[in-house]
Amino acid sequence: MIRVKYLILGAGPTGLTLARSLLDAGESSVLVLEAASEPGGLCRSAVVDGAPLDIGGGHFLDVRRREVLDFLFRFLPEADWNLFSRRSTIQFAGLEMDYPFEANLWQLPVDEQVEYVVSVAEAGCNTGAPMPRTFEDWIVWKLGQRIAQTYMLPYNRKIWSTDLSRLGTYWLHKLPDVSLRDTVRSCLTRQPAGTIPAHGRFHYPKAHGFGEVWRRLGASLGHALRLDTPASRLDAERLVVNDAFQAEHLVTTIPWHAWREAAGLPEAVRAAIGRLDHVGVRIDYRPEPAGSQAHWIYVPDESVAHHRILCRGNFCPGARGHWTETNPRRAGAPGLWQHVNDYAYPLNTVDKPRAMALVTDFAAARNITPLGRWGLWEHLNCDLAVAEALSAARALLAREAAS
Ligand SMILES: Cc1cc2nc3c(=O)[nH]c(=O)nc-3n(C[C@H](O)[C@H](O)[C@H](O)COP(=O)(O)OP(=O)(O)OC[C@H]3O[C@@H](n4cnc5c(N)ncnc54)[C@H](O)[C@@H]3O)c2cc1C
Repeated sequence: MIRVKYLILGAGPTGLTLARSLLDAGESSVLVLEAASEPGGLCRSAVVDGAPLDIGGGHFLDVRRREVLDFLFRFLPEADWNLFSRRSTIQFAGLEMDYPFEANLWQLPVDEQVEYVVSVAEAGCNTGAPMPRTFEDWIVWKLGQRIAQTYMLPYNRKIWSTDLSRLGTYWLHKLPDVSLRDTVRSCLTRQPAGTIPAHGRFHYPKAHGFGEVWRRLGASLGHALRLDTPASRLDAERLVVNDAFQAEHLVTTIPWHAWREAAGLPEAVRAAIGRLDHVGVRIDYRPEPAGSQAHWIYVPDESVAHHRILCRGNFCPGARGHWTETNPRRAGAPGLWQHVNDYAYPLNTVDKPRAMALVTDFAAARNITPLGRWGLWEHLNCDLAVAEALSAARALLAREAAS
């Protein structure tokens, strides 16, 4: 049995950042177990057709968290990143409109604009109706029937490929906020209005794709990172993993489903884990040009399998071709190269907060720290995953110093 003070499951951005921060603070007994043969999790890249391709889907580093940028620039210096102003568009009714749809209705013919604005004015949020409990009803309440029926519902049916009435409304701060006034103003001034929550400006590496920074961060860990080592036998009472590693502090960034058969798991927690749902994403590379100036394009048309197109030549210098992102539950012609991520998005079901409260209360009582996209079962972007790992390292060290 190998005894480890800090045993971390998963070497995505969260696990890598936590391990590096603990080592930086002088801790020497730190070990990360990673199932894959490379660090980086969903943020990995591969070389496909002579250029980088992000195998977990298109990834862009938001510029707003200074502490995170300073941390990542240690491994991939700022000069090795390009800085972009976001250009994302929507394929809609034979047009390529700017995103978000509700802030760019002015790009539609005038008669259409009138119908959309009237529909927004009649939306529940503008007529004083109470906010609904499910995502599906919320879309109609917030944006009106017309935007809901032609764009938002079809797009969301594609990406989540589930009954949208299963999803809750507690996560919607992630979506653009465009009021009726913003919509009217944008139609009159023929320019966008409202706020986009993420990636207004973003960094992307000049070479080797988004995975490069995580590859280097992983390399900096040396023997503290064990690749090709899935955590498969978990003992939640003794904090023992694979009958081989015994932890003083166990940090889990892997999907909770890996814990379902863990020893010492109360039945209620096992059942709560069973209620956590997720969806995957399939990446298909296609060598032909995307024929757009955008960095990426949303595709709400339900007769097309994929929901997003990544125009990699517009953010990877010298790259040709594009890749598409598709929920694996949908069919669709395979690309020249394909990669399926089984775990891409945690599903924000109505019941998730209750299920996660049971899981995290149990973890806290056993000295297990859940962290990251899968530990918390939240749509964390990687800048937030890094920020949370930096602060978790401080909290673990403070707890240790106090004991
Ligand atoms: C399509 C898509 C696009 C995205 N775009 C952006 C973006 O533009 N910008 C942005 O900031 N974020 C983006 N994200 C979010 C980003 O991917 C996450 O924030 C980030 O990957 C979270 O890191 P993590 O370490 O918590 O999880 P992950 O990256 O999922 O890492 C988890 C790690 O655990 C490992 N693991 C799983 N099971 C086991 C096991 N049993 N034993 C050991 N190891 C295991 C996995 O192999 C993986 O390496 C996007 C996500 C998706 C799906």
